[in-house]
This record gives sequence, C-alpha cells and structure tokens, in this order.
Amino acid sequence: MTHVRRQMAAVTAALALTVTSGAMASPAFADPRETDKKPTATGYGGAVSTVDPEASAAAIEVLKKGGNAADAAVAAAATLGVTEPYSAGIGGGGYFVFYDAKTKQVGTIDGRETAPANIKPDAFIDPATGKPYNFTPELVTSGVSVGVPGTPATWERALERWGTLDLGEALKPAIKVANRGFVVDETFRQQTKDNLARFNNFTSTQDLFLPGGGAPVVGSVFKNHDLAATYRLLAKEGTDAFYKGPLAEEIVKTVQAPPKVAKPTLPVPVGVMTTQDLANYKVLDQDATKVEYRGYDVYGMAPSSSGGTTVGEALNILENYDLKDMQPVDALHHYFEASSLAFADRGAYVGDPAFVKVPTKTLLDPVFAKERSCEIDPTTAAAKPVAPGNIQTYDGACPTAAAPLANESDTENISTTNLTVADKWGNVVEYTLTIEQTGGSGIVVPGRGFLLNNELTDFSTVYSETDPNRIQPGKRPRSSMSPTIILKDEKPFLALGSPGGSTIITTVLQTILNRVDRGMTVSEALAAPRAAPRNGTTVSSEPAFIEAYGPALDALGHDLVPAGDAFTSAAEIGAATAIEFGKDGQMTAAAEPVRRGGGSALVVKPVKPGR
Ligand code: GLU
Repeated sequence: MTHVRRQMAAVTAALALTVTSGAMASPAFADPRETDKKPTATGYGGAVSTVDPEASAAAIEVLKKGGNAADAAVAAAATLGVTEPYSAGIGGGGYFVFYDAKTKQVGTIDGRETAPANIKPDAFIDPATGKPYNFTPELVTSGVSVGVPGTPATWERALERWGTLDLGEALKPAIKVANRGFVVDETFRQQTKDNLARFNNFTSTQDLFLPGGGAPVVGSVFKNHDLAATYRLLAKEGTDAFYKGPLAEEIVKTVQAPPKVAKPTLPVPVGVMTTQDLANYKVLDQDATKVEYRGYDVYGMAPSSSGGTTVGEALNILENYDLKDMQPVDALHHYFEASSLAFADRGAYVGDPAFVKVPTKTLLDPVFAKERSCEIDPTTAAAKPVAPGNIQTYDGACPTAAAPLANESDTENISTTNLTVADKWGNVVEYTLTIEQTGGSGIVVPGRGFLLNNELTDFSTVYSETDPNRIQPGKRPRSSMSPTIILKDEKPFLALGSPGGSTIITTVLQTILNRVDRGMTVSEALAAPRAAPRNGTTVSSEPAFIEAYGPALDALGHDLVPAGDAFTSAAEIGAATAIEFGKDGQMTAAAEPVRRGGGSALVVKPVKPGR
C-alpha cells in the first residue's frame, strides 16, 4: 500500500547529498519528472495511474514508444519493484487483469505465491512452546512465511499472452531507475524505520536498506545496483534464470537458512522451500469473475483471490436496492451490511480452488445474493459477525435466522501496490502486486537486491480441516486483491484497484458505489473518505468518514473506529488507482490526491490528437 513519495525538485536538490546502496557518496539531483505528480490527468492515446511518479513515467515511456498496456504495466510494475521495494517486487506475487480491445474479452493471470511441497499443517506452530508464533513481527519475519514467488512468471506470461515487447525491453526503464536511483522521501524513510527491528536481523537487508546503519535520510538518492543486475539477468535469460539455476538456489538457501546477524532479536523460523518448488511454479490463466451491476459488467479476480467473489457478491446484494435515491447514510448502511454479508461468505467458502471446493458460481449468483439481502434491515445494523449463507439450498426467499459465527480474525497486512494502464488501442490492465507486509519477510536475497515475501501468512494461522484457507502444500493462500475492470456494452468504463489487505475489497467496492450510485466523478470517488466494513464488531474507518457519517451510522448500530493499528500509524485506508473511459477515446487517470502522499496519474496526450 505504501509508496515512495517524491519531494519538490528544489527541496530535493538542496537535500540530495547521499548515495545509498553501494555506499558511494556524491551529490545527486532530482529528476525533473519527479515534480510531475498529479492525482488526475485527462487525455488521449493512453493513460496510467500508480502510486509513484517513476513507475507512471515508465509506463508512459513504453506507451509513447508504441508499446501496449501489457508492456507498460510490466514496465511500471518492475519500476515499482525499485521505488516501492517494501510493497512489491520479484520476491512476491499478484494478480494481472487484461481487457483485450480486439476480442473484447477480459482475461486474468493468477500469479499468487504457492506454499512449498514440504510444508506441514503445523508450520506456524512454535515447536518450543507448541503454540502459534506471535504473528507480528515474529511469524512474518521468517523463512517459513515465504511463498514461491509468482511475479517474474506473471510478467513473462502477461507479455507473452498480451504484450508486444519481450521481458528485456519491458525491464529497461526499471533498470535505469535502479541504477540512477530515486530520491528518498519521508514515506520511504518512515517505512524503513518502521522495519528497523526486523531488517536488523539480516545482514543482507542491513546491507541494502540500512546503509550506514540506519534508514536512508530524506533527500538522499537510493540506488539498487543489485536489483538492476538481477533485472538484467532476467532480461537476458528470461525467468528461467529466476526459477532455476544459481538465483533459485540462492533464494532457497535464503529461505532455509536466512542470513541472520550474529545476535538476532527475533526467532526467524526457517522455511522448507526447495529448488524443485521454484522449478514447479506456474502462473494460472484464469477466467475472470463477472457480475452485472446497474447495467455494467464488472470483472474481477477469481479465487485464489477472494476479491472478485466478495466485491461481486456485495454488488449483487446491493443491486436489490436503489442506492441512488437513498440518503447518503442509508446508502452507506446498505454498503456496510452487504459488504459484511459477502465477507462472511468469503471466510466460510473461499480458498485456493485447486485444493478446496469453492462455490464461485453460487457466490456470484444473483439469486443467492437476493437471499442474502434478506439479512439487511434497512434501519438497524445486524449483530456482527453475521453468519455465512447457505450455499446448498437457496432460492432467493428469506431463510430462517442462522446462528452467528465467531469473529473472524484478519491477519492481512496493509502493504502492496496497484496500477492501472490503458493504451491507444483500448486495451486495459489492472494489476495488484505485493510482498504482503510492508517489507515482506524482511529478508533480502543476499546480493540480489530484492526482499522475499511473507505471503504464506495469508493462510489461516490456526489450522482447521474445515477451513478453506488452511495451509496445504503447493496451495495459494487466499488473497483479497481485487483488480477490477468494468465494461459497458463490451467497452471499458472504469478500471480500478487498491492495496490494503482485506480493506482492498471494501475500497474497490466503495469506490464503485461512489462512482456509479453516488454520482461522484472518478477522482472524487477515489478521494472520498473510506470505511472498511468486513463483518467485524467494529468498522475501521478514516477520520474524515467518521466525522461525516459517524453519528448517523452509529445511530443505526454501527461502531466506527479509526483505521490504523500498532504497526501502521496512518489512519488511512487503501491507495487506489483508476482510469475512467469517456467518449472519443478520452481517458481520465485518477490517483490518490493525499493518501500515502499522493499518487501519479499521467496521460500520453493531454489534447485530443488532430486538434
Ligand atoms: N497479502 C494481501 C492479499 O493478498 C495483500 C497485502 C496487502 O495489501 O496488504 O490480500
């Protein structure tokens, strides 16, 4: 969720004194592009929105040279691996959604990490105590939480399936940024500081991210020559050089025997990943989920992510209500209740479909949603958590009341990053990628310039045979990532996505409702204050949301609490990106104006060609 925010050029030039990663000291000056950070851009010929100006610039560079949206998305993602190394990179995974303007089809790639073949159900139990490891920072900072990365294979597959460039070409802008460096800002420094206790357990991570023993100072230039070399290796040899050979061996060694300092402060449980696990990794071409909402076709990511089914089910429930004609508070009440019902079903039924039977069709069935909508009282919030629906027998009629469940614990963190790209041909990419926590597992593969993920902590940490998200060898942990593309009459209307753990689902859902039902522009829909109803007894909300709607929603029985936790100081939810498609090829790219310091929306041509 985090990103590297740039400073104004003047400030940066004045402060840019240190060169990190390589520990060479020389003054550095900001790239002029760094001042071009706008949350909204309208124009033609292609558009991009990411959380980071370098990444957006990389996408625009590729589009201007004639690359398509898939090419530009890979270029931007690789650049985010440089400038957002704590959120995403080749050590992680993600979900890539593509609208093909020629076929008018939406296709997806599931590039989620997998559990090693030798993982055991008790992998998250501390043998010393017989009890589960404490989640943060103990379990997340470990080899055992590292899943087999899917991101390099996702890039390769996306280019092969939809792109025009080879991987080497698509990696060029990122290699350039890694070598020339980017300017450290408050956010990057703060993220590094937040991770000090974890990073200081590993020599490799200290070497890369703690030059001189501490977090890089604001205004210094951060270079990552190791990552540039790793990218060059992939450019030359393809992703085989990642999944096989010396780099694969080094990844495995890092997981099985993390490069700990002499006196580590954390237990650092080791992992069981083997070179065979890496060699066996495969991305999956998946059919997108699809629901119809108010005349739009909403496409999302099918399981192993819970994004498509949960956003889709909530929209199907809300289709039964006329939110437009409701008072804002009533519409929000319905959003809260529909989201919680969908989250109840997510918890009960969604896992990796290669391992458990996931009732995807039922969860997206409007008749099932109609029946679920019976649980919504228009004037009073249901007691949370609400129970999941009955997927065996449903007919749209209201059932008798079911017993509520225990509160579902949500262990997902709020890292990750998201990007949206469109090209002049009308192709669109929505791509969410992650290494899970901000800082992933905290472990850098020595000399290779990237962090390994801790994605396996997205499995339920307490093992139960009936839990669809229980840990199993080779399985993908359930995700919340919700890259979404919405079509109207087979043509793109809106593409959007966000980081934020399970709040990804609510951010995407709420933004759709803001745009489609509440009459906001895409930029307003993104900027509007957020709340994340996820079937808990309280609703995590941004302060501005609580200020605007708290008392009224409170009166309906909702308990709004400020967002943020012990590990994330920011009381904000998500860091979304979107593109809306207008008439005559017009595109409006929208990024966050404020959250995470603001994102970067760019277009290829601000003025209509030919004018
Ligand atoms: N690991 C999370 C997921 O797959 C994403 C992490 C985040 O956004 O914080 O849903």
